[in-house]
Amino acid sequence: MSPIPVKRTFELLHKWAGTVGHVPIIDLMAAGGDSPWKILVSTMLSARTKDSTTAKASMKLFSVADTPEKTAKLSVAKLEKLIYPVGFYKTKAQNLHELAKIVLEKYIGKVPGTVEELTTLPGVGIKTASLVYIKAFDGYDICVDTHVHRISNMWELVRTDTPEKTRIELKKVIPQKYWKEINQYIVTLGQTVCRPVKHECDKCPLSRICPASQI
Ligand code: SF4
Repeated sequence: MSPIPVKRTFELLHKWAGTVGHVPIIDLMAAGGDSPWKILVSTMLSARTKDSTTAKASMKLFSVADTPEKTAKLSVAKLEKLIYPVGFYKTKAQNLHELAKIVLEKYIGKVPGTVEELTTLPGVGIKTASLVYIKAFDGYDICVDTHVHRISNMWELVRTDTPEKTRIELKKVIPQKYWKEINQYIVTLGQTVCRPVKHECDKCPLSRICPASQI
């Protein structure tokens, strides 16, 4: 079977995304004009955590500290309490504390705006850096999480064994104009009709063109 046709896929996903009523938390924040700092922090909190839990923890944290200045003044123990029960909350609280200090001291309070600089920050891997670059700085990149890695391999767009390799290979086959939106569309697909354990192809907008369709 051939890889999924890219242009048609994005046309169908674009129409479908408007009807599904599910928008990932970071996309909602970006659309609402939240600051790069808040987008960075919520993206860090969202790792291995459900969107609904990330949203509640972010609200609780931002009601007390929504800037690097305010965050740096909080103890790690206080940060742990504010972000609980996100996954790995103890490690994330420690990283947040260090992150706030570094942003204040090295970047005079402003979140750096390149993927390279972002990945030097504590707790910020390539996936987080890429998403923050796209959502907070309107940059062009492809953010590859587990859904994007899994589904783009299923679509036969790439044949890769790590998200890092998927990011590099996807950039060769996806036109740049789609880079910013691919994460939102595929994450929404991966959290709804194309979950890892259950593919509801009968409800999927791509059932007629997907190489893995069970219809
Ligand atoms: S057609 Fe099925 S396998 Fe393909 S993306 Fe949709 S739900 Fe997933």
